[in-house]
Amino acid sequence: MFFTEDHEYIRDLAREFAEKELAPIAHEIDQTDTIPQRIYDLMADMGFFGLKIPEEYGGQGLDVRSYVCVMEEICKKSIAASLLMSSANSLSTAPILLAGTEEQKKKYIPGIASGKEIMAFGLTEPGAGSDAGSMTTRAVEDGDSYILNGRKCFITAAPIAQNTVIFAKTSPEKGSKGITSFIVDMSLPGVSVGKNEVKMGQHGVPVSDVILEDVRVPKSAILGEVDKGFITAMKTLSIGRIGVACQGIGISQGALDAAVAHIKERKQFGKRLADFQAIQFMIADMETKVNAARLLVYNAAYLMDQHKDVTKEASMAKYFATETALEVVSKALQMFGGYGYINEYPIERMYRDARVLTIYEGTSQVQQMVISGIVLK
Ligand SMILES: Cc1cc2nc3c(=O)[nH]c(=O)nc-3n(C[C@H](O)[C@H](O)[C@H](O)COP(=O)(O)OP(=O)(O)OC[C@H]3O[C@@H](n4cnc5c(N)ncnc54)[C@H](O)[C@@H]3O)c2cc1C
Repeated sequence: MFFTEDHEYIRDLAREFAEKELAPIAHEIDQTDTIPQRIYDLMADMGFFGLKIPEEYGGQGLDVRSYVCVMEEICKKSIAASLLMSSANSLSTAPILLAGTEEQKKKYIPGIASGKEIMAFGLTEPGAGSDAGSMTTRAVEDGDSYILNGRKCFITAAPIAQNTVIFAKTSPEKGSKGITSFIVDMSLPGVSVGKNEVKMGQHGVPVSDVILEDVRVPKSAILGEVDKGFITAMKTLSIGRIGVACQGIGISQGALDAAVAHIKERKQFGKRLADFQAIQFMIADMETKVNAARLLVYNAAYLMDQHKDVTKEASMAKYFATETALEVVSKALQMFGGYGYINEYPIERMYRDARVLTIYEGTSQVQQMVISGIVLK
């Protein structure tokens, strides 16, 4: 209903790639906290980093549903591998596509679309998470430049990024209406990154603070209009939420598939686990919720392709798909019993990988605020 033959073709390609290239090394990526260069290269060759980036900027120019098909298949096998793909297709390039000048688009986007460059997205601060508008990072005008001071935290891929989109207060008295976005070159004097955070899961892509100490950026680094950066941030997050929702349905399906295979094999009390009604009913709940989540994600993607405002739909998809992922992965682990708790079984990694999905790019509570805010308007 939502997809054409072309979408299904792309999904098949992504599934084959995920099964052949990602599944065998997902454990290694988790344990070594590194994605092998070969995987980057393969994903770049397949055009995954530029999937929904317009062709004029070096991307594949495909629609959101194509992106959803690929993300879902990759996330069944490795959330880590999906991170750089989602970053390239949304958090990195969306702010530039939404607010950048033609010159900025031509300068930054082709490198990201080809997988050669990484742009991080720096919104969160130690004192400003869900309430991102309360950020304290400052940008002060100084002749042809701005001087930036502040600290961003939990920034995905910051240690390996060439540039980061930094949101900073230019008119602090105006609150969230006084924020401007800047493209900051990570090699500029005064820019540094903190230690690589030791994360519970999603190993393979580093996350760190970005520290800005008297960083002088030219005015040409401003992305969009002065004091309009918060709108760019919120619109970008709305686009990004589809990607996190895909992570939710992908990992849920991956865990469900693993659980089904296990309970058909494993015997206790002289029967397969799959023969016990308590287990069968858990499977029914998991299957129902994964399918419901999938429909929300597909619907949001479909409406995005029709250029509709999907703020509510993207939030509902992210909220439901990620909460479902926590429940489904946890139930799948339960079916593995003690083996599910042991590191060499993929379900242990999936459990850790899934946990952050209800937190980043807006917590579940933030999604509830967005959804109810629209309903009660
Ligand atoms: C692995 C990882 C990667 C990340 N990558 C990035 C990145 O690339 N770029 C970036 O900018 N940020 C990134 N983040 C940050 C992430 O977006 C924030 O952690 C998230 O927005 C929540 O902010 P916080 O951690 O400060 O939690 P808080 O805002 O302190 O929230 C704590 C709890 O309080 C709840 N809460 C807050 N306000 C309310 C309210 N009004 N009503 C009810 N409940 C409320 C929240 O839902 C949450 O449960 C990343 C985080 C992680 C863990």
